Amino acid sequence: MRNIFEPCLAGERILDDPETLAAYADDLTEEDPVAPAAVLLPENAAEVQAIVRAAARDRVPLVVRVTGSNVAGLAVPTPQAAVVDLSRMDRVVELDRDEMVVVLEPGVTWAGLKAVLRGTGLRVGYPLSPPHSSVLANCLLDGLGNLSLRHGSLGDWLTGVEVVLPDGSLARTGTAAVSDKWCARGPLPDLTGLFVAWQGATGIVVRGGVHLWPEPVCRRRLFVLAGTRGAAFETMRRLARSAIADDVGGLSWPTGRMLFGVARPGPRDPAEPEFFVYLDVAADTERELAFRLERLERLLAELRAAGHRLERPFTIEDLVRLEPRFARFSEFPTSLDFLFHRPGETAPDGGPVHGGLSWVGTYGPLSRLEVAADRVVPVLERAGFAPSIVSRPMKGGHFAVLRMLVTFDRTDPAERRRVRDTHRAVLEAVLPLGFVPYKCPPWAWELLRGRLDPGYEGLLAAVRGALDPSGILSPRAWRR
Ligand SMILES: Cc1cc2nc3c(=O)[nH]c(=O)nc-3n(C[C@H](O)[C@H](O)[C@H](O)COP(=O)(O)OP(=O)(O)OC[C@H]3O[C@@H](n4cnc5c(N)ncnc54)[C@H](O)[C@@H]3O)c2cc1C
Repeated sequence: MRNIFEPCLAGERILDDPETLAAYADDLTEEDPVAPAAVLLPENAAEVQAIVRAAARDRVPLVVRVTGSNVAGLAVPTPQAAVVDLSRMDRVVELDRDEMVVVLEPGVTWAGLKAVLRGTGLRVGYPLSPPHSSVLANCLLDGLGNLSLRHGSLGDWLTGVEVVLPDGSLARTGTAAVSDKWCARGPLPDLTGLFVAWQGATGIVVRGGVHLWPEPVCRRRLFVLAGTRGAAFETMRRLARSAIADDVGGLSWPTGRMLFGVARPGPRDPAEPEFFVYLDVAADTERELAFRLERLERLLAELRAAGHRLERPFTIEDLVRLEPRFARFSEFPTSLDFLFHRPGETAPDGGPVHGGLSWVGTYGPLSRLEVAADRVVPVLERAGFAPSIVSRPMKGGHFAVLRMLVTFDRTDPAERRRVRDTHRAVLEAVLPLGFVPYKCPPWAWELLRGRLDPGYEGLLAAVRGALDPSGILSPRAWRR
């Protein structure tokens, strides 16, 4: 393997020692670890091009990784594969304040981008991903962030990409294909979409343009405790159709308990609120903010009058005064490492617990959140998992996120099996309702395939085959 890639990059950036290979073998999920044959650390687009050409010539599968935090097993390699670690390509190529676009390499992290934007009056939306994970990876995987209610999933925030195609050539999409500006995907045919949600199967993106938005002058982060999930979902729906909030989401009670260090939340006390709804209200003046907050109070009063149990909103500052651990929700990006770092807990063999985190994450109809939750809660409970659900209306309420999260001991094979079985059952419960997995893991693709429009499935295979005839990129993604 080393001799294949030695002409492409300096020898010390080709790693094949057992410790490194083991470190790239898995992620946080229940996927079984698979060590790759080599790890490659390119530092620029030309090196990525050389790697792809060499891999195509010698039929070496390539798996892209930046920080491996995708929570879907997407960066888990195959034994014959070389992992292309893009974390060293971490330049902010251009900050275009006039067009409110930043052009970045894949190694730029959320924390890194935040530092670049400080003092510019511009902001990006942040996911709940670790601060050290890749901005571009999350956009390419079509994830979600705290401006997704207004601006859609992260794939929509991309304005174009520069990509190394499977034959090693370089292509640019969006307005940047014809001008010096990376301001929009159109009006030319939208070839950026050929690289969004493809999980690296159509090309390796070496830079991309991402939309930014003006930083509001005032902002209030609020929480509303909801007695039932129905009350939370109805609140989210009403808020999605109003201009009150920039961001709205809901978390069920086990996530709150985990924040307090309870690794395996027991049954819910019936007096405990089932969901908490969080929202960001932003405005250009204090008067505008006060007006929006007044509208929020009115909306909540209407919902209460309709029989929904909703408490008065309180601010993140109130919450932090009450419990300092909530400070991690004051500013994004933030680390939710309490979900998978569980110091002190003991595994069945008496050793430390190696926390696993995994979920079934779907996009689906906002109108069907209740019926979907009614189906998945019993599935999770029967399997012995607390029903940890995260939801958020997207793109003005045209669709919603529904994510069912489990934490477990990764070193226990029986637990990993239990997670797999539960995920399958959860997805089988919500797929017929139109909830489609995002960052689709290979196991979920198996379930989806039986339901796909045959024309769509054929087109998907044709596009992939046309772009990557030797089939070297992302060997586990979207496979027939
Ligand atoms: C606690 C926690 C909370 C999270 N919350 C959220 C959330 O709120 N919203 C959300 O969307 N995600 C969330 N995530 C998921 C995750 O953080 C994102 O998917 C992450 O940004 C991916 O970045 P990465 O650097 O880890 O990518 P990796 O996991 O290293 O890469 C994943 C895959 O993306 C593809 N890819 C990456 N870069 C390229 C490229 N340049 N060209 C081609 N293909 C590429 C490849 O298929 C690669 O295998 C969360 C994760 C954790 C652990």
